[in-house]
Amino acid sequence: MRSAEDSLCLVDASTFFNLRSDSKSDPVLTASPSSPLPTPIVSDRAGAVRVAFVGRLFNGSQSDPDPAVAAAAAIRAVEELPTRVVINRQVHSDRVVEASEAPSAADGLVVDTRTFNGRRFALCVFTADCVPILVADPHRGVLAAFHAGWRGLASGIIERGVNRLGSRDRRRCLTAWIGPSIGGCCYEVSAAVAVAVAQQSGMGVILQPASGASGNTKPHLHLVAAASAQLMDLGVLDVRRLGGCTRCDENWHSYRREGAGQGRNHAFIWRTGS
Ligand SMILES: [Zn+2]
Repeated sequence: MRSAEDSLCLVDASTFFNLRSDSKSDPVLTASPSSPLPTPIVSDRAGAVRVAFVGRLFNGSQSDPDPAVAAAAAIRAVEELPTRVVINRQVHSDRVVEASEAPSAADGLVVDTRTFNGRRFALCVFTADCVPILVADPHRGVLAAFHAGWRGLASGIIERGVNRLGSRDRRRCLTAWIGPSIGGCCYEVSAAVAVAVAQQSGMGVILQPASGASGNTKPHLHLVAAASAQLMDLGVLDVRRLGGCTRCDENWHSYRREGAGQGRNHAFIWRTGS
């Protein structure tokens, strides 16, 4: 078993996961055979590219410090996922790397699936309030996955990654998916954090709540609006939002609600077929 210190986990799912293939695709909520409770999976597709965001699976395994172990149940829950899944060691950086078996610590993964001679694998990022962002050029089979918290959004991880997917003209062909993450309803931050993200995304991402009984008027930050604004500024026309606020909705893991040791939500992107 790989340790949490491995900088990249290339999970060969076929060795220890039985990928489920007994239900129809595109579920918003699918019933898992092993659980009476629905499995929160939000999925979508664009051409031959599929994405899935997996939330709380009720077995606790998603809180394991080893990213591969934490991802195992989520991998099992997603049908038609390729047998290999690339998961980076995420460090809240703005670093974007090519998906490969070479060790790396980064929060952005990009891959041109045409260069892998038919070998199929999925990219995965995991979050618990941060924003999972998946991007694809469905016609060319170029994929990207980003884990973006406020630091990533302030330091330009989306721009760095999308620039690697093609010229500005080509970016009109991209589809982006923004998955479940903490909403502007719940993401109270310091003024410095709010301004750092707003400088990359526009002042509209800062929400100022009315003063409550406590007199607390700290700003709230709308991370999804920030990610969406950045994607559109880069020329991405098809930006899709899937899922809601992780802190409000207990179907999803949330650092702010659950604290340290929380489980993780998993986001997958892959190309179907050969
Ligand atoms: Zn909320």
